This record gives sequence, structure tokens and C-alpha cells, in this order.
Amino acid sequence: MSVITNHMPTEELQALDAAHHMHPFTTQDELAERGVRVITRAKGVTLTDSEGHEILDGMAGLWCVNIGYGREELAEAAARQMRELPYYNTFFMTTHVPVIALSAKLAQLAPEGLNTVFYAGSGSEANDTNIRLVRHYWSAMGKPEKSIIISRQNAYHGSTLGGASLGGMVPMHQQGGLPLPDKHHIGQPDWWSEGGDMSPEEFGLMRARELEETILHYGEDRIAAFIGEPVQGAGGVIVPPETYWPEIQRICDKYGILLIADEVICGFGRTGNWFGSETMGIRPDIMTIAKGLSSGYAPIGGSIVSDEIAKVVNATEFNHGYTYSGHPVCSAVALENLRIMEEERVVETVRDVTAPYLKQKWEALTDHPLVGEAKIVGMMGSIALTPNKESRAPFAAEKGTVGYKCREHCFDTGLVMRHVGDRMVISPPLVIKPEEIDMLIDRATIALDKTYDQIK
Ligand code: PLP
Repeated sequence: MSVITNHMPTEELQALDAAHHMHPFTTQDELAERGVRVITRAKGVTLTDSEGHEILDGMAGLWCVNIGYGREELAEAAARQMRELPYYNTFFMTTHVPVIALSAKLAQLAPEGLNTVFYAGSGSEANDTNIRLVRHYWSAMGKPEKSIIISRQNAYHGSTLGGASLGGMVPMHQQGGLPLPDKHHIGQPDWWSEGGDMSPEEFGLMRARELEETILHYGEDRIAAFIGEPVQGAGGVIVPPETYWPEIQRICDKYGILLIADEVICGFGRTGNWFGSETMGIRPDIMTIAKGLSSGYAPIGGSIVSDEIAKVVNATEFNHGYTYSGHPVCSAVALENLRIMEEERVVETVRDVTAPYLKQKWEALTDHPLVGEAKIVGMMGSIALTPNKESRAPFAAEKGTVGYKCREHCFDTGLVMRHVGDRMVISPPLVIKPEEIDMLIDRATIALDKTYDQIK
């Protein structure tokens, strides 16, 4: 077989891909129908495909390339670390400098009282760790029966057995006999789709109080933790009503339930603060991190835990760990990513300049006949497509397919915008400039127009 390079004809690359590569969350028919898009290069917020098309990446890859593509410093950090110490583990009384430095930096950036990190290779692995961690914690506290973790319908916490069980994605549960035992999913705070006649504030309280009802149902001595994304990402960028998180925090405090904030998307500036927990005003006991930690340049995730959990868990042996926990190259890349973010004041620029600019333009999309609500926090936003803005009705017969059509038109106009059913979502690199935001909105509007013409 000849060497496979960027310069091969696209059809040959597509054929080889279809023959040998099983894609996540994709059907083979979909691949055959459209032909997979081969991305060959990227710089800043722009992807280039094998045909030479330039595409504005409105999703920062998979919500992760916070710092934008093509940062030489990160390549240098990886190369330097690979030369010096490409691998060593952190099991059995060893450590290394990159993981020490990264942990100290994360302790400095994280909210008060969260100073200790357990590393994983991804967000899913980190959430698997969290399941074991909270159970181990409660066992060590003499309460092993506190094992149930409460999560939410339509939450996304990863794709491993543990992550997918914590998540509330029905199609994932349908494959492979999930969720695992001792998981309970309450309703999500999605007012647009599920709020009925209630005001958003009433609905937010009602959904939060499902947590209390569930705790009372099982008994608080059975509940280990509640897990939630500060803003649900993969579920469609569901921004909760303002009443929601304060009530969740009150309930967790009242019953002594650990609060796990899954910051895999929200962390590292996405919501305009270092962590979504700060934006939502909550005090988690554990934060799950991944994605923006290294801006996706290297696979690394982890759990930042409270001093109390660290003290209890560190007093015994936690029989858990991954070969790549605290991998030196990934740690060095993450550290360099955070250094650049601080030096270039990326989070402050999002909060004070680019997110307010994007918000104003994004919310103006509700003038479009297809767009019901527009929601946005920092650099993560969604619009709900609807045939009736007043009743907030979904597209009955073709549910989800209107969003799919819109996504395809986006691709054709040079924009990656994802659809979750009939919600369109964006999560661009945090370094997006105002003129690129204009371009994003222009292309999104063209795609909405084309979708509207197609279905009316
Ligand atoms: N948690 C959240 C909130 C996520 O959005 C994701 C991925 O999208 C994960 C966990 C899983 O992370 P990973 O894909 O790195 O395993």
C-alpha cells in the first residue's frame, strides 16, 4: 500500500476511511451518503479540508480548542517534554515535574477549597473516577450505603460505562444495558421544551426540587452525590433558569450531598469565567475537567476535589488509576495552554469583549422566522428552531431533521455549527475575533434562510 498523505485524492481517503475506520456517533449509511469530510489543517478558528475549503469552526472541534488552532508553543512544549521524559507514571510513589506544576496551577485557578487533582485521559474517564471516588469517600466516612448518584435526563457525562450511565442520553442507555445500578436521572431545566405554562423561574425551581424529592424518596443516607454540567452542552446548550442552581446548591447543602460540577465543556473560560461553577454561583465538591484544559491538543482530564475529600481519600489507598494519569507530555501541553490563556488574558477578553459582542448578535437571530429562543452564556450558545414561536412547538413530523438540514447548509456555507435535534449550537474557540463573529453570524443566517426556504 502506498503512503497515505494529505495529498491523496479525497475519494481515495474517504474510501480507506469507510473501509477501516468505525466513527463515533455516526452510521455507515451517513458516511456513504455524504462522503466523510477530511480535515487536513487548521489555524486560529479556521479549518481547511482536503478540497481546500476553508470552514469557520463554530464548535472549537468538540467544544475543546479554546485557544484556537496552530499554536506553535504547544507543539514546542510537547516536543520538549517528549525529548526529556516522554512517559512516566504517577503510581507507587513516583511523580514528575510537569504533573506537579500542572496540579499547582490548577489549584491556583480553581475555586477556593479545591486544591487536589486526580488525573485521567479524558472527561469520560474522569467521571468514572468520580463514581469510584465518591463511593470510596462515603465508605471511608463509615457510610458505604451512600452510593446513589443523581444526574439529569439529557445530561452528557461521557461514553464509558460509568460516564454514559451518569449521562441521561436515552439512545446511549439503549445500547449495552445502561445505566449501571444506583443512578437516578431527574428532569432537566430545559424551559423551552418542557416548561409548559410555567415561567422560567417557576420551572427552574420545580426542576431543582426534583432533586429534593428524589433524596427524600431514597433517603438521604443512600445518596452519594448529584452531578450536573453548569450549562448542559451536548444536550443542546440548555441554559438553566436563574432560580435553578441556587436551589440545587441549597438542597445539596441541606442533605449533605456531594455536588459534582462537570466542567468538561464549561471549564477553562467557556462561560466567561475560568469555571462554569463561578458563572452559576455554585460551590462544587468535585469538578470534572478535560477538553479546554489542553485546548484539545493532548488528551487529558481529571477531577479537582475539595480539601475535605482529598483528606479522607488520601488517608487510605484509593485502588484506582490509569496508565496515562498525569501523563507528562499531556501535562506539559496543558500547562503551556494555561500559561498562554493567562498571559493573553483569554478569559477576561471573552468576559468583557467578545462574549458580550457575540451575545448581542446571537440574540438578534430570534428575528429570523425559524428561531424561537436564543440562549448564550460566554462562548456557548444555542437557538431553538420552531414552526411556532408562540407555542414553542417542535417540528412534529420531522423532529430533528430540520436541525440536520440546517447543519448541512452551515457546512456548505463554510461554518461548523452542530445540531442537537432541532436546536443549533455553537461553541467557537475562545480566541475568536469580532470580525470572525460577524462572519459566523452571517453564515449562520444564510444557513437558516436556506433551511427555511427548504421546509416552508
Ligand atoms: N462531560 C461533559 C460535560 C462532556 O461534554 C463530555 C464530552 O463531550 C464528557 C464529559 C466526556 O469527555 P470525553 O469525550 O473527553 O471523554
